[in-house]
Amino acid sequence: MTFVVGLTGGIASGKTTVANLFHQHFGIEIVDADVIAREVVAPGSEGLKAIENKFGSSVLLEDGNLDRSKLREIIFSDPSQKAWLDQLLHPMIRANMLAELANTTSEYALLVIPLMVENHLQQLADKVVVVDVDEATQLERTVARDNVALEQAQAIVAAQASREQRLAIADFVIKNDTENQKLLPQITELHQKFLEIGRANR
Ligand code: ATP
Repeated sequence: MTFVVGLTGGIASGKTTVANLFHQHFGIEIVDADVIAREVVAPGSEGLKAIENKFGSSVLLEDGNLDRSKLREIIFSDPSQKAWLDQLLHPMIRANMLAELANTTSEYALLVIPLMVENHLQQLADKVVVVDVDEATQLERTVARDNVALEQAQAIVAAQASREQRLAIADFVIKNDTENQKLLPQITELHQKFLEIGRANR
């Protein structure tokens, strides 16, 4: 069984940056829930067919891809449609994450799930790492990276789980409100810990 380290954090907290460091420096393989969430609705997928059957071809772009903003509009205004969509896609995403994890060969695998708290997915991980930043830093990085207004960044942060809710599920915390150079030492230390825990559990 693969030893699975779950990684989560709020918008622009630095999950991708952290996961890349684990991969680049230690060869740890990454399974990314966001990538899988896109794969299960890719053109030709069962997921996309079901969505088209339910909502009609107006949720498709001309090139056959899912029109995400259209779908977002539909489910935003109707919680029962959101529930339908979650019931369709969540089991697929979960099954694909497990299948990808089973295929990894590094000493442990990193399972990146941005909405781990919101979707109660912490049980999929043996240990949970939370990338933690203060809200001011998080807003600043969201605005800079996504080129959005501060109010929009604030609305996204408010709609996500709170910093406290995420920290409550953390076994380990990576602090990322300082400059980038401070990340690698934290990651190196955690990597050593995960090797030890993984070996002890084998
Ligand atoms: P999301 O889930 O929103 O896609 P994320 O948690 O994966 O985001 P990243 O994309 O890794 O976050 O980082 C968000 C932004 O902040 C990026 O532009 C990244 O370059 C920057 N960033 C991350 N960590 C640091 C840091 N320590 N110092 C400066 N900038 C950083």
